[in-house]
Amino acid sequence: MEQQKKAATGDQHIQLCFATNNVHKVDEVQAKIGDAFQIVTLKNIGCDVDIPETADTIAGNALQKAQYIWQHYHCNCFADDTGLEVDALNGAPGVHTARYAGEAKDPEANMAKLLKALEGCCNRKARFRTVIALIIDGKETVMEGVVEGTIATEKSGAEGFGYDPIFIPEGYDKTFAELPLSVKNSISHRGRAVEKLINHLQKN
Ligand code: IMP
Repeated sequence: MEQQKKAATGDQHIQLCFATNNVHKVDEVQAKIGDAFQIVTLKNIGCDVDIPETADTIAGNALQKAQYIWQHYHCNCFADDTGLEVDALNGAPGVHTARYAGEAKDPEANMAKLLKALEGCCNRKARFRTVIALIIDGKETVMEGVVEGTIATEKSGAEGFGYDPIFIPEGYDKTFAELPLSVKNSISHRGRAVEKLINHLQKN
């Protein structure tokens, strides 16, 4: 930990590896944290593997990814995992959100399958749930962020990634893909989990 602190402009900047290959996630988290701490990417630490995520819960997957980095690179890190829970589908796709339409993890196929599953369905309530698993000096901490919303009847918008074109957050009439990143980040599942991460790091 001490080795990973840097004196810069008089402050201590903590370096943390974010265990993801998703550039959209890195952009979202970086925008949220500002200079509260410094994110190091998997590329920066020389990791180019697709880290396994085979647990049967969202928290389990987040922990599995962070533990992989700690065990193989011994560097302070965090990982996130997200699930989309749709009420009319009894919480599916949930932990299977990335592979809902198959191993290709194709967002277009995933959205098409979900829109088909909800065809003619009035109850379109859903939520995104993100769990962040943090490992500092081997100590694990888990944080969660949730955003409630509804699944649109068709895709709209070009911002963001994943299921953003069909998710309308509560209190808005636009999908995440139609909202600027700053707005998504202020209310999203990941944004809320990252706020808890920042609070935790500042307290500890
Ligand atoms: P993972 O956390 O990268 O495993 O993501 C699980 C699934 O949720 C993938 O299909 C992602 O594209 C999707 N996903 C994760 N975060 C978001 C988001 O902020 N908006 C839309 N889809 C997301």
